[in-house]
Amino acid sequence: MTTATRDAIDDKIVIPSVRQAVQMDIFGEGGLIALEPADPHVRFDCVDLDLSDYDLAVVSMSGGKDSIAGLCRLLDMGFPKEKIELWHNLVDGNPETDPNFMDWCFMHDYNIKLAEAFGIPLYHSWLNKGFRGEMLKNNSIPHPHTFETPEGFVELGRNKCKPATRMKFPQQAGDLRTRYCSSALKIDPAKRALTNQDRFIGKKVLFITGERRQESAGRSKYNQLEPHSVDTIRKSKKPIKPRHIDSWRNVLHLSEEEVWQTLADWRIVPPVPYRLGWNRSSCQLCIFNSDSIIATVNEHWPEKIKEIAAFEREFGISIARSGKNVDERAAAAKPLAIDDAEALEQSFKTEYTLPIFVPEKEIWTLPKGAFSQEASGAV
Ligand code: SF4
Repeated sequence: MTTATRDAIDDKIVIPSVRQAVQMDIFGEGGLIALEPADPHVRFDCVDLDLSDYDLAVVSMSGGKDSIAGLCRLLDMGFPKEKIELWHNLVDGNPETDPNFMDWCFMHDYNIKLAEAFGIPLYHSWLNKGFRGEMLKNNSIPHPHTFETPEGFVELGRNKCKPATRMKFPQQAGDLRTRYCSSALKIDPAKRALTNQDRFIGKKVLFITGERRQESAGRSKYNQLEPHSVDTIRKSKKPIKPRHIDSWRNVLHLSEEEVWQTLADWRIVPPVPYRLGWNRSSCQLCIFNSDSIIATVNEHWPEKIKEIAAFEREFGISIARSGKNVDERAAAAKPLAIDDAEALEQSFKTEYTLPIFVPEKEIWTLPKGAFSQEASGAV
């Protein structure tokens, strides 16, 4: 067996235990002999998947290029549009009652317009009071979750949880316990939306998210296909609520260039953050933003930096691990030069008024933020 062949096999197998690794003749010249197969439901590489027997695909849609590419790829593979729904987690909470804080103010409406343009239903979920409410938890029980269903909104309380305190920004770490925003604001509300809707019982569901291996060392190790954490079919022989949910990261293997090519092929206007120079379309005030992005926010949206700075003072802890507060970081760095007046104008408006698809006869253009190395999103 050549080294290249061994590596290729190695890449396709997730070895579940040392015992099984020993039982598998990975390094023997006689080839690979699996006495006990790896978990057949988990695949490190799963670029293509037989979609024919899935009843439904949920695409976790942030409005960024990778989740859009995930949707396009699903459609390119022939999965029926009628079986797809988009889910958008709102990090700032209820768009009607909770004030905009960390996210781009147009992102809620952008996702609505995107879903309308594709003709695919969109459902929302959030943690009540959003990022700000979670951050200001002070010996208090967590806020309820809210999620949207085909019949309307459902609010689920969390009165059985113990009181807890945050009173600091999520920290710049891979561990979701300290970088609590991803888990508390996105993962948990989506999980509850899956576990509290009977329409998923007895169905085979694909749950698609847009992480890519190229984005970070952590993401490079993700499995491309695995049972979702709230799947019950693979956890029990006789589940009370049988839910078959596969988590498929269908753009995990794509390069940034391939993602942009997908958007170009579909003639999708690059989302506004990329046109302003951001390389990622995450929260506008993402905790992972570089100093240069902080300086750019300070130049164009100074009230946002003032708000963050006031919280850093109140908590006595900065967002940055360096200990520098956002004022110091903004003052020390050079802002990005924004030359897209249309995108800049949109960035101040809650209603998204730009096109979703590039009009005919106009040329699709790569946005300024494409291939930038400036940190501006979760890793
Ligand atoms: S985009 Fe950044 S700030 Fe927003 S939830 Fe993700 S890690 Fe947290």
